[in-house]
Amino acid sequence: MDRVSRYTPPLEDLRFLLGQVLDVSRLFNYDAYAHADQDLAEAVLTGAARYASEALAPLNAIGDEQGSRLENGRVRTPQGFPAVYRALADGGWIGLDMPAEHGGQALPLVLQAAYAEMINGACVSFGMLPLMQRAAARLLIAHAGEELAAAFAPRLVAGDWGATICISEPQAGSDVGRISTRAAQDAKGVWRVTGSKIFITYGDQDFTPQILHLLLARTPDAPPGTRGLSLFVVPARVLDANGEPGAANGVSVARVEHKMGLKASPTCVMDFDNALAYPVGAAGAGMRCMFTMVNTMRLEVAMQGVAIAGAATARAMEYAAERCQGGPSGQPAVPLTSHADVVRMLFEMRALTEGFRALTLQAAYCLDVARAADDEKARAEALALAEWLLPVCKAGGSEAGFRVANLAVQIFGGHGYVCDSGVEQYVRDARVMAIYEGANGIQALDLVTRKLGADAALRYRLFAAAVGKDLAAAAADNPLAAALKDALADLESASDWMLEQLRAAPRNAEAGATAYLQLAGLVGVGWMWLRMSAAAGTQLADAKRATARFYGEHLLSETGSLLRRIQAGSATLDSLTPGELCRYPG
Ligand SMILES: Cc1cc2nc3c(=O)[nH]c(=O)nc-3n(C[C@H](O)[C@H](O)[C@H](O)COP(=O)(O)OP(=O)(O)OC[C@H]3O[C@@H](n4cnc5c(N)ncnc54)[C@H](O)[C@@H]3O)c2cc1C
Repeated sequence: MDRVSRYTPPLEDLRFLLGQVLDVSRLFNYDAYAHADQDLAEAVLTGAARYASEALAPLNAIGDEQGSRLENGRVRTPQGFPAVYRALADGGWIGLDMPAEHGGQALPLVLQAAYAEMINGACVSFGMLPLMQRAAARLLIAHAGEELAAAFAPRLVAGDWGATICISEPQAGSDVGRISTRAAQDAKGVWRVTGSKIFITYGDQDFTPQILHLLLARTPDAPPGTRGLSLFVVPARVLDANGEPGAANGVSVARVEHKMGLKASPTCVMDFDNALAYPVGAAGAGMRCMFTMVNTMRLEVAMQGVAIAGAATARAMEYAAERCQGGPSGQPAVPLTSHADVVRMLFEMRALTEGFRALTLQAAYCLDVARAADDEKARAEALALAEWLLPVCKAGGSEAGFRVANLAVQIFGGHGYVCDSGVEQYVRDARVMAIYEGANGIQALDLVTRKLGADAALRYRLFAAAVGKDLAAAAADNPLAAALKDALADLESASDWMLEQLRAAPRNAEAGATAYLQLAGLVGVGWMWLRMSAAAGTQLADAKRATARFYGEHLLSETGSLLRRIQAGSATLDSLTPGELCRYPG
């Protein structure tokens, strides 16, 4: 195999963001993180960078070529994956931010997010499993009874057992309320689950002897819609008297999907046939409980997008400096970096990658403050700001991943389109991030209806105030400040308009939701560029300031057209009937 499969971790930028921009050392003053310090944070960064670049990255192309496959009813992952997984679990990486009492290291989420970028940048289809183990453990700790959480969470945190999230069914995609998988108690009062789930990531694998399926099902006489859904843990194997995996539990893999990207990550159709299950949380509270897992995963999907963007940017920078084309005839060809249009693409890649990296780390930092701050008001405000940022980061990070990967292929030209370069894989792997964990259109509706439209727009107000505060403190000659001020004014107008439409004409709000989310993302990333350009100290300074200027001139200027698009409402969209719209003129 001749494909390039390597990864350069963005260590310098992560150190800059964690140290100078976010100053995460402030977190170590809280009791919850008092056991951590700068040295430990540095050890996490360098250890994760080594593991990602040396152990994991070489498997990225192998995983893409071989894929995971079904053999005699069991999933086989690509060559080398089980061994590299063992190294991850043995190194204690899965539980970086998990509570110590469940076997984790109780480190801040913002450090875990930095680690997650490197794992996913090296091989995103591998990173899916440890993500679900953490997210499932977090769910169990939050919502399962003490006994169940104590029995299951430490096994996930240690990486001894795998986990899945089982929501999707053929008729229940974005519309989760249509789930029809059933859960009922048998004559002995034991809960049993029957039904099929589709698209289940790592529904089976050959890393661990047990897999816990976190599954939404409908109980007898439950009302229709999401209010009728309850949450269950369904182990792949029934536990024996010692709590170890024993006999099979009516859980089987019907199919492993062939798909566009993430080929090493098995996407399974799962059948549950009278499988023993443990209820988690109250009956009918399944969706609410599941959101603990979903929100954990959404933050990391944002990081997956950043990770792909970072990996693609590193490869494109290297290539553009080496590849020579053009220049005066009779003279040696000049590097691609001599051409303004290539420079524009490289700037755009940096602006999006470093911007969404900063914004996603900011969201993680807010969640740390929300968890650990002594002051109740500080905790509540940090949580509200994180809730605002989450859909913006999930949708914006995933779209940045795809857009930046696509730009990398453009910079590689035809050499990027062929597989040997390894960059076309980034495009294929990134594509799904805008679809899973709540498609981006659903994130936009979430931002408009549940984040902007709830609690008197408190979450938006906190965000706008944070941006405004940094704008007020910005140096007069900061080249980004004027553009960000205008962009924030556009977001303010859009927010007022949206709030009015939510009251008077909700269809207009729905029609403009994606443009609104993009506008919020542009302002959020602009906020980060303002802070990065202000904090840039030594060797990063010129590149950071120039990229901030580029961001203001080339990307932030889009907020005006987004505002106009939002305010166009739904009139044109509703001007054709669905029949007229979908009648192909063939
Ligand atoms: C590789 C992969 C891995 C996955 N892993 C898992 C997993 O581990 N567990 C799991 O449960 N699921 C998983 N999924 C499923 C994934 O979460 C769903 O694909 C996703 O929720 C969208 O559902 P759908 O595909 O049925 O699309 P649909 O719901 O049919 O949506 C299609 C399009 O219509 C839009 N749309 C739908 N409803 C609305 C609405 N009300 N308003 C506006 N727009 C709307 C969507 O935004 C989307 O663009 C995975 C999917 C893939 C491809």
